Amino acid sequence: MFQTDLLGGKRILITGGGTGLGKGMAQRFLELGATVHICGRRQEVLDQTASELAMIAPGRIHIHACDVRDLARVEEMISAIWAGGGLDILVNNAAGNFLARTEELTPGGFNAVLGIVLVGTINVTLACGRRWLEAKNPNQKKVALNIAATYWHTGSAYVVPSATAKAGVVAFTRSLAVEWGNRGIRMNAIAPGPVPTEGAFSRVLPLPQLEKIALEKNPLRRFGTVEELANLATFLVSDQSGYVNGEVVTMDGGEWLQGAGEFSELGKLLTEEDWQSLKPRKKA
Ligand code: NAP
Repeated sequence: MFQTDLLGGKRILITGGGTGLGKGMAQRFLELGATVHICGRRQEVLDQTASELAMIAPGRIHIHACDVRDLARVEEMISAIWAGGGLDILVNNAAGNFLARTEELTPGGFNAVLGIVLVGTINVTLACGRRWLEAKNPNQKKVALNIAATYWHTGSAYVVPSATAKAGVVAFTRSLAVEWGNRGIRMNAIAPGPVPTEGAFSRVLPLPQLEKIALEKNPLRRFGTVEELANLATFLVSDQSGYVNGEVVTMDGGEWLQGAGEFSELGKLLTEEDWQSLKPRKKA
């Protein structure tokens, strides 16, 4: 699908790149020639991922134990990366999420999700963005890609901290796409629907019946794959999408539209007989 050197020479940081979608993107970017930095809180997870990915691209994968909520630690990480040559692309992918009735959330629980998803995205983007802007080069090709979720625009019951934070991430994405676009920085987002990863599915689809419901309501009757997400991300961070700025690309098999359409459920509710009886009759 892509030129094998599409991302050759590009230096990329993926937050939360040790697992799930972040790891999948790291693998794809490495296969296409990039040098990739990943960060996360758990050193042992990063070590394990780096040793796997180093098989694909020896010497091109770098790890940083860093909590994106901790601004001082983020600055330290970004300074270290800049000392080694800087970045062309940032992917804000780190997140936390869990199912809860909102009235039962503790302030700590609410803040943890807002902190990782929204404040973390702001912290890392500003640390990179300020450095990119120092170049004062409107022709540079820097990119930030933020991983949102389809409920950024609809909101969603039972994942309210995440929905609140993802809406903020999209507002942040679109605002900076305009503010920084004239200085050679593009900013876009992907809104994924359900893609099986241990992190996401263990927390938001923890019971088999929930997985079944999610599958049945999806027009494509399947979940997305890490590879599909990684390919979409590859296009959006590559120079091939150079005129795409401030966009949120949904990748959910049509799931959110299924929920939004007033008559979408009829396909499940009406029988063949019902459909036949509903056909317009020619007047005699
Ligand atoms: P995941 O495997 O749980 O990925 C989350 C990553 O974020 C982990 O590697 C985690 O590593 C890291 N992380 C969490 N808190 C952090 C912090 N404070 N600082 C730095 N890193 C932190 O889940 P995923 O499914 O791949 O999710 C990736 C992204 O896709 C998220 O933005 C998620 O909201 C979005 N998304 C996923 C789905 C889906 O169905 N998979 C659907 C919609 C949106 P540590 O725990 O080691 O820090």
